[in-house]
Amino acid sequence: MKDIYGMTHENLEQYFLALGEKKFKATQIYEWLYEKRVTSFDEMRNVKKDVITKLKEDFYFGKLTMLERQDDVDVHKYLFELSDGNKIEAVLMNHDYGNSLCVSSQVGCNMGCAFCESGRLKKVRNLETAEMVEQVLQIEQDFGKRISHVVLMGIGEPFDNYDHVISFIRILNHPKGFAIGARHITVSTCGIVPKIEQFMKDENQVNLAISLHAPNNELRSKLMKINRAYPLEKLMPVLKKYIDVTHRRLTFEYILLQDVNDTDECALELAHLLKGMNCYVNLIPYNETSHFEYKKSRQERILNFLDILKKNHIQATIRREFGSKVQAACGQLRSNYEEG
Ligand code: SAH
Repeated sequence: MKDIYGMTHENLEQYFLALGEKKFKATQIYEWLYEKRVTSFDEMRNVKKDVITKLKEDFYFGKLTMLERQDDVDVHKYLFELSDGNKIEAVLMNHDYGNSLCVSSQVGCNMGCAFCESGRLKKVRNLETAEMVEQVLQIEQDFGKRISHVVLMGIGEPFDNYDHVISFIRILNHPKGFAIGARHITVSTCGIVPKIEQFMKDENQVNLAISLHAPNNELRSKLMKINRAYPLEKLMPVLKKYIDVTHRRLTFEYILLQDVNDTDECALELAHLLKGMNCYVNLIPYNETSHFEYKKSRQERILNFLDILKKNHIQATIRREFGSKVQAACGQLRSNYEEG
């Protein structure tokens, strides 16, 4: 038995062809799942009885349980339990341009970034495609409005769960699925170089964000273990190639940690590193957690950092802060829940 929400449209077409049925049945099923949002095969009234019987033998409808929701101004944080008892989070943010959902891709994370709550729990397992799809379905249902944007910036490293993430993106993007445009979907990675190359071939219209957080190897390797495997001299050329091949603007995420990576020198070095690239930098005020001693940079520093980037012709913005009340930093809700 498989979870029906893990099936891409193409997977379902293959399934029906293998049964000797017409492949347009995939579209019929998708309409029931994602337009009409039924939760049983018996409700699919235009599908033949024998096909329904077969579908019931092969598939079930989801196994994710919504445990808790915390609300703050324009931000809603959800905690889910998976069928094996593991817990994950998703965060819904109301922007003026729409509703953006931040989805988790793994239980725990092995990337071991020094400042990140998610990595305090080592990776337990990858999320199945269906477990990502169901975060979107259940939150849309709970919230009662359409999710217009999806970002893979919750718990986990999406490129450490590549195939499931790609299937998830296909379901989000399919016109009979969630019909979310590729440019409204963003994948964020700490910089797994071979997967960036693969992604450039597989999904060249989806937004890519790179968690950079430091302008040189010495500092980046201290903050992000991945930099020891893929240092800047490996990462930067592949990103330049990505921009060339896709003609897309790349996003860099840069958390500002007080007295660690927020100095004028760092800003200048960053401007130098990114010079001439079609990119923009999203400066992220650090969301402090009780488990790490890193501090959020002072407002004046943040503005100063931004100013230096701009003066050096690097496009940059400061990310709007959401939900310190609801512990919106990755992994915080799960972490606090587990600690009781
Ligand atoms: N593993 C992926 C995606 C998940 S994290 C990646 O590394 O990009 C999404 C973003 O939130 C990353 O840029 C991450 O570094 C950042 N982040 C982690 N902890 C944070 C915190 N406490 N405050 C602000 N941003 C944080």
